[in-house]
Amino acid sequence: MGFGGGIGGFSIGPSSVQSNAEAGLPFAELPDDFLKRIDKVLEKEPEHPDPKISFSHSKWERSPFTLKTFLSSHVFLLCLALLLVVLESGLQHLGPLLTQIAIDEGVSNKNTQILFVTCICYVASIAISAAVSFVRTSFTGRLGEKLVYELRIRVFTHLQRQSFSFFTNEKAGVLMTRMTSDIESLTVLFQEGLVNFAVQIITLLVITAYLIVLNPSLALISLLLVIPVNIIFTLWFRKVSIFGYLSVRDKIADILSNLSESLAGMRVITAFNQRKYRSEIHDKITVSHFKANLYTGRAQALFGPGTEAIGIITQATILFVGGSMVLKNELSIGELTAFILFLTSFFAPIQSLVQLYNQYQQGNASIEKLRNLLSTTPSVYEKETAIEMPKLLGCVELKSVDFNYEIDKPVLKNIDLKVESGEVLALVGPTGAGKSTVAKLISRFYDPESGQVLIDGYDLRDVQLESLRKQIAVVPQEPFLFNGSIKENVIFARPDSNEKDIEKACKAAGLTDLINRLPNGIDSAVHERGASLSAGERQLLALARAFLCEPQLLILDEATSNLDLLSESLIEVALDNLLNGRTAIIVAHRIATAMRADRIAVIDNGSILEIGTHKELVESKGKYATMYKTWTDQGGMESNRL
Ligand code: ADP
Repeated sequence: MGFGGGIGGFSIGPSSVQSNAEAGLPFAELPDDFLKRIDKVLEKEPEHPDPKISFSHSKWERSPFTLKTFLSSHVFLLCLALLLVVLESGLQHLGPLLTQIAIDEGVSNKNTQILFVTCICYVASIAISAAVSFVRTSFTGRLGEKLVYELRIRVFTHLQRQSFSFFTNEKAGVLMTRMTSDIESLTVLFQEGLVNFAVQIITLLVITAYLIVLNPSLALISLLLVIPVNIIFTLWFRKVSIFGYLSVRDKIADILSNLSESLAGMRVITAFNQRKYRSEIHDKITVSHFKANLYTGRAQALFGPGTEAIGIITQATILFVGGSMVLKNELSIGELTAFILFLTSFFAPIQSLVQLYNQYQQGNASIEKLRNLLSTTPSVYEKETAIEMPKLLGCVELKSVDFNYEIDKPVLKNIDLKVESGEVLALVGPTGAGKSTVAKLISRFYDPESGQVLIDGYDLRDVQLESLRKQIAVVPQEPFLFNGSIKENVIFARPDSNEKDIEKACKAAGLTDLINRLPNGIDSAVHERGASLSAGERQLLALARAFLCEPQLLILDEATSNLDLLSESLIEVALDNLLNGRTAIIVAHRIATAMRADRIAVIDNGSILEIGTHKELVESKGKYATMYKTWTDQGGMESNRL
């Protein structure tokens, strides 16, 4: 059955025009006035230029991520925000001053003119303050969002740059926490926290200077009481809170990891009747998050009221010392009252600083986690001197390659292998022998521990990654499909493909029947991870994707999942189309696939045991011959797994 309609009998999903026409509806096109209205709406649409992301496999920001380095490129904007906050709080403090002038100069002196002018000034100051407040709030809000946006892009591109070993070691949930919760906890700090911090420190310094001018000896007593105790208290809180907040960050990461794993593994969880057990595990993790929060809550509860108590003790001490000075006529009652009142204003910024410090510590824990993440260096990276890989001929060579994933656990031992341009090589051998690892080294997912992997004589470590990867197609054992349509998944490797190429790829991969069967043709949704397709259909889609790349070199890890005979024969036809004229390395799990290759390499325990054509290997009566005999004894095609 061929594709229906379209170019050469091919349709990329029925458009509304086509389906209306086919259904015999009165008009097969959108009415003119409707189109005009659409144009009008589009005119008002803001332009969304393509994002400009700088992404490189060789150059990236390598200095450790700290608040200082991150903010250093925004000093001007931060100073502007500080200026606005100072202006806003200055204007807010004008009110009491104008009231005092109005009472002292206007009311007491019975001067209506001064009273009128100060009242007008008061109203004007409130209006200006409101306007400045509006500008400041939107400015700091925007600045905070800009910083968070930059950080998100930096972390995401850093993740995109990482090698496979990184994703094996890191849990997806932990990385998701870094991208979401950790960055979000910095938003408040970026928006207002840092600027407010600076403002409160300035206020504190101004009031301290004023207290010293008012009465140096009382000021000295206050400072001696407040500063050392507060420093000790803050140092204690710093130590306790960073531990607590880091633990909170870890527990949130645990919760998200457990959640993402549970969602991804829902089928297995259900099949093995583990829903209750998974809920119990999640409960345990959530309880430890709850406890971590209680711990930081307790530290906060001691720090906040503790510093407040220091303030009250200081005020009581000043009342006693100052009162004694009044009794000895060394101080007037008015001066003591003024001093105590100013002491209250002295403690207000301290209390704000305490809260801001708590906020800062929370952000600091996130910064530490992000610093650890951003300091990871990809094991596979591009040298700055890397050259562009010329058009591939497809000759692959492994020279004395040793490789291990973990220290002291060799996986490949002294592998020597040469695949000529246009040749199809099948890798066979027991599970865990190292077949997929060979394939991963050829696509430079990993670098060898020693030895060289060469394509057309170029060591893969000397060529630019993108220029290499765009000429190789990799079809993994379990093809990953993205949430989207069949078409979106096929053109994933070459988003600029034209309809004709997509048609060719789908036809060659044998997707025709599937596309014609689905209600929206090639535009039908495949859902997350291709959940709405069968294993065989997912394989065909992955082959179409590879076909579209028109690679000179193909690396294919054959599906191990049991496919029905029809799917297998469809895949075989698709494979024949795909392999035609290309160099291919196939990790074969079926004798039938291995037999069709030009040569077969038998890998066992990380070494190549034997290599040759099917005929040669059968005749040499080695391991392959035994595998082949077992297969033929079991009925050949009917049970064709290795
Ligand atoms: P095959 O494809 O022949 O079944 P692999 O090449 O996948 O075998 O694996 C070879 C060995 O390396 C196995 O022992 C496997 O457990 C181990 N291995 C594979 N991937 C990793 C990894 N990411 N980290 C650690 N060990 C791994």
